[in-house]
Formats: sequence, structure tokens, C-alpha cells
Amino acid sequence: MIRFYALGGLGEIGKNLYVLEKDGKILVLDCGLKFSDVPGVDFLLPDFSYLEKRSKDILGLFLSHGHEDHIGGVPFFLQRVKVPVFGSRLSLELVKANLGSRATEYDFVEVKAGESQELGPFKLNFVEMRHSIPEALGLYVETDEANIFFTGDYKIEVAPVSGKPTDFKTLASIGDKGVDFLLADSTNAEPAMMWNGSASAGDCLTEQQVYELLAKEISESSGRVIVSTFASHIDRIQQILKIAEKEGRSVAIEGRSLIRNLKIAEKLGYLDGLGHRIVTAQTLESLPREKQMIIASGSQGEPLSALVRISSGTHKRVRLERGDKVIIAAYPIPGNERAVTDVINSLLYKGAEVRFIHSSGHPCTGKDHQLIMLNLLKPRYLVPIHGEWQHLVGHAEIGKRAGLPSENIFLLENGDVLVYEKGKGQPRVKKHGIENVGALIVDGILSKVEAAVAVKERMKIGSEGVVVVEAVFDEDQGIWLVDTVMLGVVTESSQSSVSQTLNGVIARMLNENTVSDPEEIEQRVAATIKDYLKGMNQYPEVVVRLNSI
Ligand SMILES: [Zn+2]
Repeated sequence: MIRFYALGGLGEIGKNLYVLEKDGKILVLDCGLKFSDVPGVDFLLPDFSYLEKRSKDILGLFLSHGHEDHIGGVPFFLQRVKVPVFGSRLSLELVKANLGSRATEYDFVEVKAGESQELGPFKLNFVEMRHSIPEALGLYVETDEANIFFTGDYKIEVAPVSGKPTDFKTLASIGDKGVDFLLADSTNAEPAMMWNGSASAGDCLTEQQVYELLAKEISESSGRVIVSTFASHIDRIQQILKIAEKEGRSVAIEGRSLIRNLKIAEKLGYLDGLGHRIVTAQTLESLPREKQMIIASGSQGEPLSALVRISSGTHKRVRLERGDKVIIAAYPIPGNERAVTDVINSLLYKGAEVRFIHSSGHPCTGKDHQLIMLNLLKPRYLVPIHGEWQHLVGHAEIGKRAGLPSENIFLLENGDVLVYEKGKGQPRVKKHGIENVGALIVDGILSKVEAAVAVKERMKIGSEGVVVVEAVFDEDQGIWLVDTVMLGVVTESSQSSVSQTLNGVIARMLNENTVSDPEEIEQRVAATIKDYLKGMNQYPEVVVRLNSI
């Protein structure tokens, strides 16, 4: 019996984690994080609790490529489930850098495109895919019941700026060998009629076009150029360094994750011998401005990133000047649009020129990439993965255009289980077959993983404010109120009068009270306050602290 389900990645962009089971043996496909716009939360992870319970059945974790939404959860996952990790050299190096000194505790198996590996009931065949980071792998899984192809993230590239074009030959030969289930990247797909012919996200530039646009903007610039992109977008960074070489510009790198990733990329030979272009910020400063280039983190408007600091004038080394050109070489991930707009406004306000030049690393639906993949692999069944609902539905429509009957296309949510048994007819879907598919939050530098209760409280306090009541309870003398503190509930001018009234209400309630159980008193005080503030149309979080003496 084959089972397939996702603990993250369906109905959302991010925290990809897919699971393939054969007769109870488990292969995990990717383990990523999701960037979060929840206050104070750094990022979200898939809830691993189901896999923790099944840990003895898990044979391995396969990583398709080194982007955070595919590998960012690995350190947290390995702490709970110790299994061998399969991936390309670059993917594994990036994971190890995340793990730091703990990396030696785990078993990493480096694999290359073109190689195969037996793992229990699975035969894993690694296939080169083009994406915005080198060494991205697709996975062709053969079992005695069904063959499955997992694309990972991909785009079709016929004339890349660096690296090899899409390996059509291997993909077509896999299609000839037979693909029962295609689990494929849905990003950029959208229902055909949704935009009704107007501009949509489904079209995009080729990498060659991006390169030419970047080269043009940089060569036409007479001042300093600052390019911001994802730290993991090694392909784009290669392009930028190539242009710097051509234009005789030196490059300083601002951003910790960028520096870390570039070190790894250089070690593995991915900077095309252009590493000598990279200089320190001090060296850069000594050069004329038209010879300066900076690659900075912060393309998503992350609050502590280099670009945000540069835009707000708080960066230690880089001061923005009129005539500087800032090129943002990344689209905002859904949820980050506001933060990116804020950065753009600050940059423009300070007199910089701003350009957006980017192309998706995912299938360009407008150029039929998903359709091409379906035609090459000719699957019996399609399971759209990696996308919000609009992308999954759009991908399902493309599946129909490729000739698949609609009953052979499965739109799943995180936690839905697709079950297939050879010779027993169509696969079936068990809705919500896996419970607990919510998110875990990673909060602060210590990366504490906890349930999402704290986040709910934080959001309530953020939107409604908080009232804290402190009272003292003495068995002999009863209860007396110490103080009521309000934050974010009423305007500053009315705060003391509301506070006083509230103190009066609570004092009256405590006087009349005959209950002696502290917990019950706390509940009654909270209810009284909530009741009173409801009359003012206020619904804050209420905290009552009763200290016994
Ligand atoms: Zn990716």
C-alpha cells in the first residue's frame, strides 16, 4: 500500500514537508520553514508530532534543494527524529552550516543527479532539476506497487546563464519508464479565468533576460549600486558577480546569511572564479562610487536586515546617497508585501533610484512549464503540491489540459492522505487522515519550539490591548486591590479616569465578595472588568494576579 500526505506545503507557500509511505515504511520529502508575519515570530515549522510517533518507521529524509522553505526545519526535525538525510552536496552543506557543531551527530548521505540508491522498499533515483539554486534534485521513486516522481522546485530553462539546461532527455526517459504519481511544483499556476486575460503572475522572464536587464541597469548607473536578493539565490548572486567583473566594480557583502552562503558556494566552486571581486566594506569605501557594488540581504523587508538598515539610515557602514541605485532582485513572498513597500518608500525618500528585476525560480505557467513537465513525464495521476490553493487549482486545470481525467487529479490539503493499492482501482483520499497539521513557531534566537497559544495571546494583546489587575489576598483581612494597569486599551488622556473607575468597580466587587477560593476570585474579577469594558466597546486581554500573603 502506498500512502502520500503533506504536513506542510499544501494551501500555502512554505514549510514544505511531504511524506511517502510504502507498506508502513516512510520516506520524508523536504523539511522546510515558512516566513511569518505573526508578531514576534521568526518563522513557522510543520508540526512533526505525527512523524515523531512514527519515528521507527522512517527510513530517511530527502532534500530536493537548499532553500529555507525546504531545509529550514531540518535542525528541529533531526532533534526529534534521527534519520539519515539524503541530498546534494550544496543542500547538505547549507543544512550543516545551520546545525553548526551539532552537524557531526547526524548521518548525511551525499547524492548526485544520475545516481540511484535502494532504501527499504524504495528505489531512489536522483534527477537534475533547474531552479534558482544549484544542485536542485527531483526524485524518481520506484516501488513494486507504483512509481512516483517528486519534482521539488523547478523551472524549465533552455539557455541558462550558468549551469546546464533542463535535462529533457532524462525526464522523457523516466516518462517512458512510467510515472504513476506526479507530485509537482504548482507555484505560479492559477485558474485560467481568474484574471480573465489581464496581467497575471504566471508569466516570467528567462534567466538570460534577467541577466541582461541587471547588466543594463548596472552599466547605466554612474553611482553606487546596491543589489538585494535572497541569501540562498546563488544563481542570481553568480550573475551579479559576473556583471561586476565586466563593469570593473568591487563588491561588498552585507548580511550574515549571505556571507555564510557565499562562503559555502565559493568552497563548492559556484562563484565561477569571481570571488576576487568580493572586498571588505572598508576597501569598497576607498573606491570611487561608480566602482562600488553592494550585495545586501533584506529583499523581503526583514526588520534587522542590511537593506532595511541602509534604507532607514541606521546601517553601521553604508550611508545612502542621492544617485545610488538599489536593485531588488526578488519578489516579495506573500505576507511580506507591506514590509517591502515600506523599504521602497524609505529608499525613494532618501533619493535612491529603485528597480525591481526578478524572475521566478518556479515553473512559468505563461510559458507552459507545468504542461511541458506533464507531457514529458506522462503520469497516470497528478498531485499538485507546493502552492496556495489558487496555485493548486490552477495546476489541476493544467493537468486536465494535458489530458488527465479530473478523477486522476488530487487536490489535497495538509493532512489529507492519498491511499493507493495496486490492482484495487482508483486511489482514495482520506480527508484529514493525519491530525495536528498546524504550525510550530520558532520564537527568538534560542529557537524555542512551542504550540501556538503564545501567538494567539500576542495577537489579541496587539489588537485589543491588555489590562493587568494586581490584588493581595489575606485570609484574615480579605482582599485589597493594589492597582490596575492598562496598556493599549484607551487613549492616554482618558486612561487615569478609566483606571480609577475600574478600581472602584473591582473594589466594590471584592467587598461584596464572599468567596475565599483565590482562583475563583481571579475569575470573577476578570469577568467584572471584561463586562465593564464591553460597555465601552473594548475587549482587551485581562490578567488578574491575586497574591496571597
Ligand atoms: Zn526553492
